[in-house]
Amino acid sequence: MAKLKIVKIGDETLRKTCRPVDVITPRILQLLDDMVETMRAADGVGLAAPQVGILRRIVVIETEPGNVIELINPKIIARAGEQTGTEGCLSVPGKCGTVTRPMHVTVRALNRHGEEFEMSGSELLARAFCHELDHLDGKLYVDVADEMFDNN
Ligand code: ZN
Repeated sequence: MAKLKIVKIGDETLRKTCRPVDVITPRILQLLDDMVETMRAADGVGLAAPQVGILRRIVVIETEPGNVIELINPKIIARAGEQTGTEGCLSVPGKCGTVTRPMHVTVRALNRHGEEFEMSGSELLARAFCHELDHLDGKLYVDVADEMFDNN
């Protein structure tokens, strides 16, 4: 495994729309492993492929330590309720902001074996699904934050 360099806000890579994964190659599996290592090393709860310079629809999330969620070609298929809270991003160091998101979110995605699955999450996990999937369409939370703060 290898730790990857995290792209920071201002880099155009973060503003691009990512392409779906057609075939899950050994390279994609390596990328998933490297993204998990990179997310953990940076103390994050989520990481999207464009944040490591790869314009593919791939996300890793770990809101509960030890419980890694890998999403390939994810889509939000249901959302309900609302929550307003603080959000940060490994690509926006030193900052956080207040963002309103759905309280409950269901995603459909492929796992690393190419099998389709659905997963529902609430609270932090729902927030992570929204935040990370936005990255795949070139969106950052700073675009929708009500307020931004320094996070020291
Ligand atoms: Zn982010």
